[in-house]
Amino acid sequence: MAQTALNVVSEPFYADAPAVARVMAPEEAVFCFSADRLRARLDLFTRGFPGTVSYAVKSNPSQEVIATLAKAGLGHWDVASVHEMAAVHKLQPGAHFHYHNPVKSRREILDAYNKYGCRRFAVDAREEVAKIAAIVGDDRSVEMAVRFVLPRDRASSAHDFSTKFGAPEHIAIELLQDIQRRGFVPAMTFHPGSQSRDPQVYVRHIEAAHRIAKSAGVHIGKLNVGGGFPASYPLSKPAPLDNFFSLIAEATTRYFGKGTEPELECEPGRGLVANAMSLLTRIKLVCSDGDDIFLNDGIYGGLMEFMQAPELQPPYRVIRAGKVVGGPTKPWKVFGPTCDPLDVLPAKLDLPIDLKDEDYVEFGTLGAYGIATATVFNGYGSHAVIPVGDVFNG
Ligand SMILES: *Cc1c(COP(=O)(O)O)cnc(C)c1O
Repeated sequence: MAQTALNVVSEPFYADAPAVARVMAPEEAVFCFSADRLRARLDLFTRGFPGTVSYAVKSNPSQEVIATLAKAGLGHWDVASVHEMAAVHKLQPGAHFHYHNPVKSRREILDAYNKYGCRRFAVDAREEVAKIAAIVGDDRSVEMAVRFVLPRDRASSAHDFSTKFGAPEHIAIELLQDIQRRGFVPAMTFHPGSQSRDPQVYVRHIEAAHRIAKSAGVHIGKLNVGGGFPASYPLSKPAPLDNFFSLIAEATTRYFGKGTEPELECEPGRGLVANAMSLLTRIKLVCSDGDDIFLNDGIYGGLMEFMQAPELQPPYRVIRAGKVVGGPTKPWKVFGPTCDPLDVLPAKLDLPIDLKDEDYVEFGTLGAYGIATATVFNGYGSHAVIPVGDVFNG
């Protein structure tokens, strides 16, 4: 079964991005991937989190990442689409899925259920409960996890998810009752927002989960605390993950009572994969009058998230002849390769004064939402994944 995953994970040939730049001299932007970094992070989650750890495939669906996690023993996957199920199933035929996109078409529900054995679905609307019920019929093994949302908590994360998904408390109560009445397995889930820096945001959601289940008069066997676990960026330095884990365990016991706690699950994306990839770009042009440079990748490629959330600015460094370039720097305005004038980084970067074309710029901490959101606008964006021993993270 696992041979498929085994075939994908190869020993890295290059030590790091400077070695890739020197030997391969890639013309197109590439992602460098460190399986060691990913395994170390998975280990942190599986040792520390007080429940089951799954992986939010959407944050990085590259087969190198999926295969590395599968080979390291991860068996539960949070998927947002049937396409993601197919990508995981190919590498791990026995994979367990929870389909945590609250909005699914009938065809998607049917394919998830029939082709991939998916029995776990998130819901945040009455219509979605009815839709799933109509498709799965009297299969009472199907779990529906009510995705609830608390009033907007703007300051605590880089990406607030509450504007799109999640039932407010009074609806969540009704949904739980409806699921129970229909005979399905009721569960609960939330997502506190990506890059949640404040562990108390999980505590507030666990308290609310208890309040909602109690008001509904429904016992929940499982509580999925979502993703949102932070990575470390130059402008966003969170507390250690162990602080999050111990507060989550404590809060669950405090609110649900010792011995009657739901089983916990988490589904990190960013917190698990951000450290495992860097993006190696090349300078195409340095304008000698002024401070403009043009890279072979940009906001339509691996750097889209920098545009959406400036606090997630990745760390970066310049590589020339296989060596990191030091010395005095100045602020440069950095354009991407497309012909769209919007294709410029949202902040100037401090790069060496003597920058030259064909120097490389490595951006670190781009394992999450880097390769996942890259487009092929103007024909750019093929992004090969190069296994390396280690990657730069600032
Ligand atoms: C995006 C998403 C995740 C992963 O979020 P991160 O902030 O990357 O950890 C987990 N669960 C669901 C339902 C999501 O939509």
